[in-house]
Amino acid sequence: MIAVAIDGPAGAGKSTIARKAAEELGFIYVDTGAIYRAVALACIDHQVAIDDTEAVEALLPQSDIRVIFFNGEQHILLNDKDVSQAIRAENVSMAASRVSAIPAVRTFLLEFQRNFAKNADVIMDGRDIGTVVLPNAQVKIFLTASPEVRARRRVLQLEEKGEQADFDKILYDIVQRDYNDTNRKTAPLRAAENAVTVDTSEMTLEEVVDKIVGIIKEQGL
Ligand code: C5P
Repeated sequence: MIAVAIDGPAGAGKSTIARKAAEELGFIYVDTGAIYRAVALACIDHQVAIDDTEAVEALLPQSDIRVIFFNGEQHILLNDKDVSQAIRAENVSMAASRVSAIPAVRTFLLEFQRNFAKNADVIMDGRDIGTVVLPNAQVKIFLTASPEVRARRRVLQLEEKGEQADFDKILYDIVQRDYNDTNRKTAPLRAAENAVTVDTSEMTLEEVVDKIVGIIKEQGL
């Protein structure tokens, strides 16, 4: 089996790029952020405060999170309900960033994530895929871009969907999530030792996809 790990901060374009690269290579794309988002949504739905780590931990066994692939697209089910859209709300993003710092949450999701790579060639994206989830991945990529560029891309995405976007607020949230993800004690966001870092600030989407597919093919995979 071939495993490609793509890590990096929020908004670096990981999911769009990983999805396209997986399509080109015929691999399965697994978005692990969606799984943390489902845990965050479970907390919000049950009105569990995220700083109440014991309550969050108690909620985990009651949260049946499942990932299904439909027409090549990943869907997330939380207690049998498709929450793939609901987990994209801005309040869920921030809650996911906080809930993911709880060690019990990370332990709860570890094997679940590893299982995807057991029976299929995968491109998996997240924050700790190359360092913790799939340390033996054949290819590790750390995808990054400046916070301003990431905020601008997010504004464009929201505007394309006809939603209001406040650049300053989005930039603030990105910097805050970077801080949370980089400074947590368990599995902080960082490039794996043998990862190739790709700064996408000055690159188009197509250029990044070509580069990533090129890196994977260079390995003879
Ligand atoms: O990638 P996405 O922005 O959807 O992830 C949501 C949150 O989940 C991130 O801010 C991060 O804190 C957390 N996460 C994580 N480890 C992963 C994937 C996501 O901690 N492998």
